Amino acid sequence: MKNFFQLLAGLLLSIIFINAPLNSNTEDNPYKILRQRMVAEQIESRGVQKKNVLQALLTVPRHQFVPGNQTKHAYEDRPLPIGYGQTISQPYIVGYMTEIINPEPTQRILEIGTGSGYQAAILAEIVREVFTVEIISELGQSAAEHLKRLGYKKINVKIADGYYGWPEKAPFDAIVVTAAAEYIPPPLIDQLKDGGKMIIPVGSPFLVQTLMLVEKNKNKITTRSLMPVRFVPLRKDK
Ligand code: SAH
Repeated sequence: MKNFFQLLAGLLLSIIFINAPLNSNTEDNPYKILRQRMVAEQIESRGVQKKNVLQALLTVPRHQFVPGNQTKHAYEDRPLPIGYGQTISQPYIVGYMTEIINPEPTQRILEIGTGSGYQAAILAEIVREVFTVEIISELGQSAAEHLKRLGYKKINVKIADGYYGWPEKAPFDAIVVTAAAEYIPPPLIDQLKDGGKMIIPVGSPFLVQTLMLVEKNKNKITTRSLMPVRFVPLRKDK
């Protein structure tokens, strides 16, 4: 009889222990592992170092920002289609662009080209408030709804031509432009705070562009070319 109870207790314990990891195994866990791998192999290994940037990339569920038929590719080392001829940038580029503007918790940041909302979410993990402008209303609306569902309260989405920035909310500590412009839009320079940084791909649409860092110091503008990139074009409003 004693053996029977011992066996029963053992059985119950093993059920508890076998179940425990299953219960804590949230639906996100397989993706968490993919994210860790993405950050280690694609982003940290290429030189992105800032803890708050790496932590944001580990936190934001990138697979929830791509269309259903792309979920399985969400953590691959490349951009992915998000509909309307647009793309979500390669994870490394998102990490690099985020690190270079040096985001801090007190900052307010403007993004041009909301797209899926992924870059905005990465920024919102770090800074105080994010303002993001999207020209395709369907994309902007769905990103806004999606970000709200995921609980991102610090992100404000506006449907407009981002060439003109968001003057009512200016100036910004930093500006991240995620579509390629033929030249740096002057309204964006105006809306940058003194000491602020802007990262923007500049060059001919549909060709290779140059990722540029623009800095404003005592109203003096300096630019630095960083690397060749390929972005979808910054459109002009119809
Ligand atoms: N940052 C996005 C990816 C951007 S793809 C993400 O994380 O998913 C570039 C986006 O810029 C597209 O959604 C495109 O519609 C938008 N875009 C292009 N021209 C624009 C303009 N003039 N103003 C605002 N958004 C623009």
